[in-house]
Amino acid sequence: MDNLRIDGARLWRTIMETAEIGGTPKGGINRQALTDLDGQVRHQLIAWAEAAGCAVTVDRVGNIFARRPGRDPSLPPVAVGSHLDTQPTGGKFDGILGVLAGLELIRTLNDANYETEAPIELINWTNEEGARFAPAMLASGVFTGRFALDYALDRADRDGKRFGDELERIGFAGETPCGDHPLAAFFELHIEQGPILEAEGKTIGVVTGVQGIRWYHFSVAGQDSHAGTTPMNHRHDAFQGLARFAVALDRIAREEGGGGVATIGIVEVQPGSTNVVPGAAKATIDLRHPDDAALDRMEAAFRAAADGIAHDLGIEIRFDTTWAAPAVRFDNACIAAVRAAADASGHGYRDIVSGAGHDAANLAAITPTAMVFVPCAGGISHNEAESITEADAAAGANVLLQAVLSVANRRPA
Ligand SMILES: [Zn+2]
Repeated sequence: MDNLRIDGARLWRTIMETAEIGGTPKGGINRQALTDLDGQVRHQLIAWAEAAGCAVTVDRVGNIFARRPGRDPSLPPVAVGSHLDTQPTGGKFDGILGVLAGLELIRTLNDANYETEAPIELINWTNEEGARFAPAMLASGVFTGRFALDYALDRADRDGKRFGDELERIGFAGETPCGDHPLAAFFELHIEQGPILEAEGKTIGVVTGVQGIRWYHFSVAGQDSHAGTTPMNHRHDAFQGLARFAVALDRIAREEGGGGVATIGIVEVQPGSTNVVPGAAKATIDLRHPDDAALDRMEAAFRAAADGIAHDLGIEIRFDTTWAAPAVRFDNACIAAVRAAADASGHGYRDIVSGAGHDAANLAAITPTAMVFVPCAGGISHNEAESITEADAAAGANVLLQAVLSVANRRPA
């Protein structure tokens, strides 16, 4: 098993072939969920999977499952996969690499006449990006019980077209019920979508989890007053409150460390006049950390800082949580399988926490899960300029292969 290697050139050709479906003049892809182009790439994937001897099923939300039998058909399959849908100005690799590396893995096993103990299953999750139908990771969310089926089918795009209708239209409203589908494990290979691996010269990221995210709106209430006649010690300046808070928040995230990040991305100051001390201000906070306890600490610290600032300036500061997704920690045995495969590969590797959401974060709720990252140039993603090397794609696919084999050949206790 150790000397089994995927065919890097074949993987690259397959990626470039699908990149023509929805390819943009700038070298990216616009292949949003449940469009004709999505239908086209799905038919292509199924044709390839069937040619590789897989049995293909499609569930009620269009998730595609291609199963390569194992020696023991009673064992649940070890699954690999990701998504073939893209952002409107997406790249050639986000999601696509994980699906096509799974196909390449199956082709490699076929070439070697290699029989695994458990079946292997390749999965294409519908509507990961959420670009056309919000929210993101919708269909893996139905599969794992996070969303109800009807909720998903009723999502509508900007033109009012329903997810369920579009699924039927492209012929992917499958017969198989969604979920209740046991898996031994799930592994997802993905581009990092951040700059860390490239900056450190590492080829493989052993992904240990997905960081927790909290979003808040915050509003500051002070008092509008004349900019010329109001002495500094008589002001209740809402913008000053916001500005001092922004500095405090930045300090809190830096001091917390451990991958903690805090961002104020939208700011609004009222009434918005050069010679009026602003009486109201609003902003958003995006807070992330791999550990929920650290998020709690950061939130407690910024609330305390806001209290002090409000007291000093005689203003009010209010926070409303608008979204929260808890941190996900992947399965220790699956992480260890990826790390051992990375170590044996001879490539440089490091543990890493995903800054972005992935279908694997949903899967972790129902089955042992881990991910493999490979670098992307400049950390740029969700962009037509997204770029990776053929060698890194092959390295990631080989690590995926070895991690999958170590679980698929584990004899049941
Ligand atoms: Zn993705």
